Amino acid sequence: MSTDTLHPAQQPWREKGGQIVMVGTQCEGCGKRFFPSVAFCDQCDGDAFKTMDIGSHGKLYSYSEIHVAPKAFETPYVVGYVDFGDDVRVFGQIAHQAAELELDITVRPVLGTIRKNPDGTSVTGYRFCKEG
Ligand SMILES: [Zn+2]
Repeated sequence: MSTDTLHPAQQPWREKGGQIVMVGTQCEGCGKRFFPSVAFCDQCDGDAFKTMDIGSHGKLYSYSEIHVAPKAFETPYVVGYVDFGDDVRVFGQIAHQAAELELDITVRPVLGTIRKNPDGTSVTGYRFCKEG
């Protein structure tokens, strides 16, 4: 079975020293960080951004187990929001069952299958995994 990776323009991460680092943007006008990227800054209306690393670990802000989903997703699975610093909140799948999680634990992005294409191939993306 072959594996697809999201197109580079849609790939908001990079590998650095064996770790996955989330990549977002920073407003050049006021310094606010965004993930995913935006066209206009909601703080200063600026439209100039530079790419920047958001981080390689964050804190689990909230999570929920999904039992009903489109066919492309294997249920049940867990989604959640992860805080990177105090200004960036990232949505994504969590690579654990809800019973294994607690709020505020440290998680890090890893690459894994997030869904299947209709032809059965896998789509790789970031998921969050408990640290340690
Ligand atoms: Zn701004």
